[in-house]
Amino acid sequence: MTRFDTVLVVDWSARSAPSPRKPSADAIWLGIAGAAGTDQIYKRTRAEAATFVEDLIAAELAAGRRMLIGFDFPFGFPAGFAERLTGHRNAFAVWEWLAGKIRDEADNKNNRFEIADRINSLFPGTGPFWRRPASVDAKGVPERGSNRAGHGLSERRFVERRVKSAQSVWKLHATGSVGSQSLMGLPRLWQLRQRYAGQLSVWPFETNRTPIVLAEIYPSLLAPIVTGAISMAGHPIKGAHQVRLLSRALFEMSELGTLELAFDAAEGPDLVEEGWILGVGAETELLDAARSPASTSRSTPSLRNDCFALPAGVNWVPVDQALESLRASLSVMSGTHDLPLAELRGRTLAQDVNAARANPPAANSAVDGYGVSFGSLGPGAQTLPLADGRAAAGEPFTGKVPPGQAIRILTGALLPDGVDTVVLQEDVEIADGKVAFQAGIRSGANTRKAGEDVEAGAEILKRGRRLSPQDCALLAATGCTHARVFTRLRAGLLSTGDEVVEPGSTEAAAKTYDANRPMLSALVSAWGHAAVDLGHVGDDRNALRERLDGSVPDVDVILTSGGVSAGDEDHVSALLKESGSLSTWRVAVKPGRPLALGVWKGVPVFGLPGNPVAAFVCSLIFARPALEVMGGGQWSEPLAMTVPAAFEKRKKAGRREYLRARLTAEGHAEVFRSEGSGRISGLSWATGLVELDDASRTIQVGDLVRFLPFAGFGI
Ligand code: AMP
Ligand code: MG
Repeated sequence: MTRFDTVLVVDWSARSAPSPRKPSADAIWLGIAGAAGTDQIYKRTRAEAATFVEDLIAAELAAGRRMLIGFDFPFGFPAGFAERLTGHRNAFAVWEWLAGKIRDEADNKNNRFEIADRINSLFPGTGPFWRRPASVDAKGVPERGSNRAGHGLSERRFVERRVKSAQSVWKLHATGSVGSQSLMGLPRLWQLRQRYAGQLSVWPFETNRTPIVLAEIYPSLLAPIVTGAISMAGHPIKGAHQVRLLSRALFEMSELGTLELAFDAAEGPDLVEEGWILGVGAETELLDAARSPASTSRSTPSLRNDCFALPAGVNWVPVDQALESLRASLSVMSGTHDLPLAELRGRTLAQDVNAARANPPAANSAVDGYGVSFGSLGPGAQTLPLADGRAAAGEPFTGKVPPGQAIRILTGALLPDGVDTVVLQEDVEIADGKVAFQAGIRSGANTRKAGEDVEAGAEILKRGRRLSPQDCALLAATGCTHARVFTRLRAGLLSTGDEVVEPGSTEAAAKTYDANRPMLSALVSAWGHAAVDLGHVGDDRNALRERLDGSVPDVDVILTSGGVSAGDEDHVSALLKESGSLSTWRVAVKPGRPLALGVWKGVPVFGLPGNPVAAFVCSLIFARPALEVMGGGQWSEPLAMTVPAAFEKRKKAGRREYLRARLTAEGHAEVFRSEGSGRISGLSWATGLVELDDASRTIQVGDLVRFLPFAGFGI
């Protein structure tokens, strides 16, 4: 039977520039599934992705494990192509040919259109490759598919008759440009095959019995369920969600024994040239596996047990990746209720809100002055008789102002019948019951139209928004007296450690005053959640277990501090491991590192480091956005500003660092005199953090650095 320990699924990309730093849709996403769980990984360039895949292959081989790797681009071209291009009727000849021609730089710059142009020149007529952006100079690649003729090749492969939605491999640009992905992917696969010869094979051209097997996959085979309930628990980015789901489904098939059926389904006259999509011919089994309890258990409304799994072969999780995995695993833990306007500030909307009436509800004057009908004015300077009465805010003029007359009007007053324009009072002279003003007034000047700010019924605020004082003004002005909001997230706070005691309770120098609970309580309150004090427990596993059990009914999430490294007294991680839900994340962050994440009886647990400085930084970077989402709000990035450094530092590669910092009077960032993680006074001294990226760096005075003000963290 064909069993794999790990399944990696790669959503490849033919981009010509690196993808954004912030994980986004147009990028390379890798889904990884194994017994430990499922995860997805974001890569900005093909070179980075290739390195990741190679490292993973090396790690799996070293551990004696088997891995199936799926790539989402055609491994072969329609029959006849290989022979015409290379003289050989087989796909590897094309791979090798491409590997010798395609250039793919570290920043994704590449020559694929030039090579497609060259290939087209080797075929009669026009084509087969088509669709180039107008900006690209490759005359032999037509801009439209219909401009091709006489190249002699079929549009689709045999397997593609079975998957109607698949795009033709000849298409190089715009939606579903799989052609470019193959051109940029096959040379990479060729290199893998050369490098791991004997241990790696490519199905269906070769066997599927080697430790590492590469296969073509097509994530859209899961389309029938990706829009359904399973997607609810997935990832906000479709590509990320799909690779994750597909890796899981293939892994489940491997466990269930149905993967064999998928391998057996490959057929057709030109397999050695065209290849096959793994899963075509076994769609039912694939969808069953994707829907199986093991795959869908992750859709329960809690942090899913496996979401913290470290991908095999990865030792330190970079901060961005840890955040991405965390984000993908969250769901809302709060309930909802209706609250009156006076209690809404700081609460999170559970429903979109629509204006109960327009703002302004009717046309009115924007200034104090004199109202006229623009159409009744003649050319040049004006002198108009003043009508009796006046229009004031809340005291409308009820009569009609005759054409050619003016009426006194004050700011906010409804425009009386017969008035559409207001002349500013500073621009008129009043004498003998007449109003005189110069030429040049515009029609409608100094008035506000009904609904010009907000129309009645318009959506004014969206679900997930945490209501600001300004939002309260908007709600009030549009007549919204109540709103449905999420109940406050109940965050339980628990300190651990035999040495930890209540502040002031003893003088004994061996004891440490509990600094974390007061800090965490203040933090979660500042973030709008309800802090639930779960007290302190010593380094005693049973006591900890009882305290966690007892807390479950009263909290939506638990933040513990201490006891999460791998030492003898590190009972938080030990217990979470016992419950089967823990992966200690060794996050590549300073200060911080061991940050344990797990689920206790359905309640997500953040096991923060004991060290208060590390606990604080991990709370800001990891807990804050996560709690926000659990409370019904939106994931948010910290507010960052780029400022000159007022310090010098050499930083090692491989981890993100956060320095306690504050801005000088000139707006430069200075850092605390000591990086010692025990220096709590530095937290008070600082007004923010300087964030140094994962790469190595030598910072000199005046170099630009990222400063994250505490104000941006809501504290
Ligand atoms: P641990 O993660 O339990 O190994 O703790 C790391 C360090 O943080 C030790 O020096 C602990 O004494 C200290 N520590 C743990 N919890 C707290 C707390 N609640 N307040 C202050 N320091 C703490
Ligand atoms: Mg401890």
